[in-house]
Amino acid sequence: MKNKTLKRLICGLAACVVSLALFSFKTVSPNGPGNPADSSFRIKTIIVDAGHGDRAPGGGRFSPGAGGSYSFERNVTLAIAKKLQEQIEKEMPDIKIVMTRTTNYDVPFKTRADIANSNHGDLFISIHCNSLPNRSIR
Ligand SMILES: [Zn+2]
Repeated sequence: MKNKTLKRLICGLAACVVSLALFSFKTVSPNGPGNPADSSFRIKTIIVDAGHGDRAPGGGRFSPGAGGSYSFERNVTLAIAKKLQEQIEKEMPDIKIVMTRTTNYDVPFKTRADIANSNHGDLFISIHCNSLPNRSIR
């Protein structure tokens, strides 16, 4: 009698384990459209964001970023962003590039996000570079 109960318990647990294995996982591929793991997904729009910037005439935000001995982050990021834009356009002409700023003037964070979202950016590259006061650090 006791063995029969134990046998039923074991069979019940085995049925639960098998059921869990069969029915608890998705049988449909999670790789639908828009998923980077999907082989049909491709980047169509890249947002290139040059970090920081000067205060616009008439006010606004001033975000110089890191300062080196002969340059400021805001200028370096803009130069890198423009070179990156040129290179992507040359190497991948099918991809649309949208810059969050092309002038020296800073763009508020919300505006940068709005630019990315309104252009349906697939990839957002925000460029920053820091400096260190100690030149011996490598
Ligand atoms: Zn920065």
